[in-house]
Amino acid sequence: MYCVCREHVELAIDKFVDEYEDAPDLVSLGSTEFSAWTAPEHCEWCANKAEVLVV
Ligand SMILES: [Zn+2]
Repeated sequence: MYCVCREHVELAIDKFVDEYEDAPDLVSLGSTEFSAWTAPEHCEWCANKAEVLVV
């Protein structure tokens, strides 16, 4: 699972496919509420706001 900014979505998808050999689901963090989990504020690979969850 990766929490990334929009710029790093493609990188996250590549890594996900490498690791799990399956296509990920993309979840927009702005439109989804999580009750038991708080999304990280920042992208996995840069200081930008994390906007997309790749799972
Ligand atoms: Zn980023």
